Amino acid sequence: MNFPNIEEVATTDVAQISRERTLCEAIDLMYRSEHRQIIVTEKNRFYGLGIYDVLRLSNSHMNKQTPMYEIALTPVPTLQKGKSILEALEYIRQDFEYLVVVDETGALYGIVSQTDILSSIDPDTMMETFRLSSFLQIKKRTRWVDQNMSTEEIFRFMEKHNHDATMIVEAKKPIGIITAKDMLLLLKQHRDLSLPVREYMTTPVITLPVDCTLKEALAFMQDKHFKRIVAVDDEGNLVGSITQKELIAIAYTRWVKMIEAYQSELREINARLEQKSRKYEKFAQTDSLTGLYNRMKFLELFVAEYNVMMHRTNDLSLLLIDIDHFKTVNDRYGHNVGDEVIVKVADILQTSLRSVDIVCRWGGEEFVALLPATTVAEAYETAQKLREKIEKSTFQIDMPLSVSIGLTRIKEGDELRSIIERADKALYMAKDAGRNCVRKYL
Ligand code: GH3
Ligand code: MG
Ligand code: MG
Repeated sequence: MNFPNIEEVATTDVAQISRERTLCEAIDLMYRSEHRQIIVTEKNRFYGLGIYDVLRLSNSHMNKQTPMYEIALTPVPTLQKGKSILEALEYIRQDFEYLVVVDETGALYGIVSQTDILSSIDPDTMMETFRLSSFLQIKKRTRWVDQNMSTEEIFRFMEKHNHDATMIVEAKKPIGIITAKDMLLLLKQHRDLSLPVREYMTTPVITLPVDCTLKEALAFMQDKHFKRIVAVDDEGNLVGSITQKELIAIAYTRWVKMIEAYQSELREINARLEQKSRKYEKFAQTDSLTGLYNRMKFLELFVAEYNVMMHRTNDLSLLLIDIDHFKTVNDRYGHNVGDEVIVKVADILQTSLRSVDIVCRWGGEEFVALLPATTVAEAYETAQKLREKIEKSTFQIDMPLSVSIGLTRIKEGDELRSIIERADKALYMAKDAGRNCVRKYL
């Protein structure tokens, strides 16, 4: 089922007038626009002025030059553009004839009548879907009796239990009906109520197959001017009966429930989509092996951090960290173990650094850490600590594992590419110096 947005069913051809204007001007507008209903606006509030209001005001000898802010008018509820028509349902239940649709600025966009709302929700579809059989649980207001039962007894029973009709049944087939209205007539005519009901019942009973649709059932009642339906199965056996009023009441309740269910289904779908998009967003930002930020996300965070630095003339340092002899790890222990080593190194980096530091997997077995508000001396100390921590950690391999770290500081006007180039130079110096050490290139 498709429910349109409120603005799709709204009428935008609306006659509106400011509340500052006089009643006379409002009447003029009503005539000129040929609208039976105009909207009186006061900032972002709206009032309805209909042809009957005008007649009423004229009858009460209201001076036509009175400005409308002096006249009590009925406020019209508003609904924002973009809302689903389902939200307007609430107002139907509150008995408003129409709603004002407003745009983002709160200005009038159009009006929507109850009929507009109901017709776009399409109860027709619902009526063709629902079958009479599912509405017949409500049998408690009818009773099935034998034709020889005394009319008086049935009458007393109906009165006691508030039944409005009794079905007379023979071998499961409905052969007659007697209603509260019939009873009233019998009383009025002083008929002998001790006689069996077959004397007074209406017969034959016109029935409807139980598997007909709600639409057919209602059309049938309308056509025959019946207030009640008697439903039978394939063999003509009585299944139940229901009044038009009951049928419409249940159908309406179901329809509202159905729409509410549809709404909660939508909400659920939305929540799931949101969850998914959050997940994908995370995917796009992080490296799948280590869970660290990827290069793309690093770039984004770097720009933000760089701007803060420029603003506060803070120190900003960067470390380029590369695992030593990693090819040997892969060669000796295989790629999977290599992966695990990378994950563990990533973990050590992440947990050893501060939460304001930004760590990313730069590629392969290389990592970059951006250290905000950190001088070169402090960054050097941090780098040494990291290096020592990794050196002392145990990995799934029986060869020593270490990292080499290149350090640089970020200057005004720096570009990430030149920063990385300097860090890379520092790293090369560390490798050249025998690895497992920190070097800086500023
Ligand atoms: P150096 O000390 O000079 O850094 O020596 P190295 O062996 O670490 O040399 P290099 O940095 O050139 O080699 C890195 C190796 O890491 C090459 C590549 O096969 C491996 N590698 C890159 N990415 C991954 C990965 O995701 N998993 C595993 N297991 N290995 C990777
Ligand atoms: Mg490398
Ligand atoms: Mg390496």
